[in-house]
Amino acid sequence: MDDFFIADEERVIAPEYISDDTDIETSLRPHSLDEYIGQEKAKENLKIYIEAAKKRHEPLDHVLLYGPPGLGKTTLAGIVANEMGVQFRVTSGPAIEKPGDLAALLTSLNDGDVLFIDEIHRLSRSIEEVLYPAMEDFALDIIIGKGPSARSIRLDLKKFTLIGATTRAGQLSAPLRDRFGVILRLELYSPEELARIVQRSANILNIESDKDGALEIASRSRGTPRIANRLLKRTRDYAEVMGSGIIDVESAQQALGRMEIDELGLDLVDRNLLRAMIENYNGGPVGLETIAALIGEESVTIEDVYEPYLMQLGFIARTPRGRKVTTAGYRHLGINPPFDENAQGSFESY
Ligand code: ADP
Repeated sequence: MDDFFIADEERVIAPEYISDDTDIETSLRPHSLDEYIGQEKAKENLKIYIEAAKKRHEPLDHVLLYGPPGLGKTTLAGIVANEMGVQFRVTSGPAIEKPGDLAALLTSLNDGDVLFIDEIHRLSRSIEEVLYPAMEDFALDIIIGKGPSARSIRLDLKKFTLIGATTRAGQLSAPLRDRFGVILRLELYSPEELARIVQRSANILNIESDKDGALEIASRSRGTPRIANRLLKRTRDYAEVMGSGIIDVESAQQALGRMEIDELGLDLVDRNLLRAMIENYNGGPVGLETIAALIGEESVTIEDVYEPYLMQLGFIARTPRGRKVTTAGYRHLGINPPFDENAQGSFESY
């Protein structure tokens, strides 16, 4: 049974979508703002805008959602469409290859429809340019003919709502960003919020789980609902094969321990990252590219996936000269820090 979880080649705590999620994501997605747990600030704002738009019988203003992967951007966009009572169309930056692809999508929309573009920062410049008049004037400018006889005609579009999602608002071009009326940032969830998500998911999936078991999974899920749902499913599998089938603290701890996910949700990759910075660069400061080379990951992955959580835990700090492992980061690995950020003698127990 030792290889219970080993067959998995994808990282269990990857916040991005992995193939294993297919069967659960659809059934677990909340459909209304009331079902959507946490993100109170974003929800509050959206509620007001949705109500106002409905009162005026107008489509909702364009919305940009940003934050790390797996926090519920797609889910929230779907909920907006539901709450507005309109169709929800989904695409993504990399999926739109030519301006014509986007034009075809835009002309197929009805009044008020929500067009969701995931990873909107990955749209090419020429495609972005199609979006500008579409977002601003609900129009498409089409060039007909070539050379000196070429002329531009304007096609009217229905009044739609664009919801863009991005992991990195900073990478969006200024003209595109400026065309969103509402910009909302999603935050990592607290363990208590994630525990509510785990319990809700357990109910839907008919998994027996007690409160403490849910909290155990939640506290190791890196503030991310997608990871919480995935760990719930893996823990259920473990509990069914190895134990009573019920998720409690004990079965959760055992299952997560086997997946090498520690009590704070760090996995081998996170620990390797911290260790590599400590062993090779004395804890830093060290540049992002160097860290990427050290652990064999792409620098964007480090920035989007590993860093937000390590920074939230206070294990890594950004300095003008690069990233640094903090004393808390050293402590977590059980290594003596070479410096003392706080009072003297605070590491006596280590
Ligand atoms: P993103 O688009 O930000 O990558 P998703 O919207 O695809 O994230 O969310 C991933 C999964 O997490 C969804 O399938 C959904 O079940 C769950 N989820 C996300 N946010 C919430 C929430 N606030 N409440 C309950 N479940 C959520």
